[in-house]
Amino acid sequence: MPKSRRSRTVKPPARAAALPRHGGLTVPWITGWFDGRPYFGVNFPIRRIQAITHRLCQFCRQPLGRRIGLVVRPADSAVGYVDEPGMHPECLDYAVAVCPLLNGAMDQYRSAPPSVVAGLLASTPARAGKLAEAYEAWFVTPSGYEVAYGPDMTVLGIRLDVPVLMKRPVRAAAQPRLTDEEAALLRQVLGLESSAEGTTTP
Ligand SMILES: [Zn+2]
Repeated sequence: MPKSRRSRTVKPPARAAALPRHGGLTVPWITGWFDGRPYFGVNFPIRRIQAITHRLCQFCRQPLGRRIGLVVRPADSAVGYVDEPGMHPECLDYAVAVCPLLNGAMDQYRSAPPSVVAGLLASTPARAGKLAEAYEAWFVTPSGYEVAYGPDMTVLGIRLDVPVLMKRPVRAAAQPRLTDEEAALLRQVLGLESSAEGTTTP
């Protein structure tokens, strides 16, 4: 956990100075709040759409600049768009430094927020509790920052089939941990344990 402890001392970018803080961390503009607390990783649907259509940074809410950073998973590349809006490179760096999911300190998406919160905010229940995927930072220019629309013209996110200036790995996919039972079975299979002593099988 040294990563998360160190993360509290990472300075947020100057342009994010006006954002609220919670637990020592700057809360991104897009982050949903409910009952006085932010739900990191759960986005306000309206702000997500605003950020995408008005080309605002999802972190600090200011207009995006000459370089735009996107956080991309393999699943996003597969569908051709990422549902989260872009960020200033320095906002992305801060998010990666302090977010335990992005910096690899946490291997699992946290459990789904309370249903009342999920009902109010756009959540990603499909990811809840699952192992973290690999993440990359992609950087594009303003001309390569294009909205991806669904067949009914709904805003899906940002297109990924565009010229990319640079791709940088952010974190590797989390490796599944074996349960005690699976580990014991594996040791047996590999011949590391010659007897079945200790198992509960009659
Ligand atoms: Zn920003």
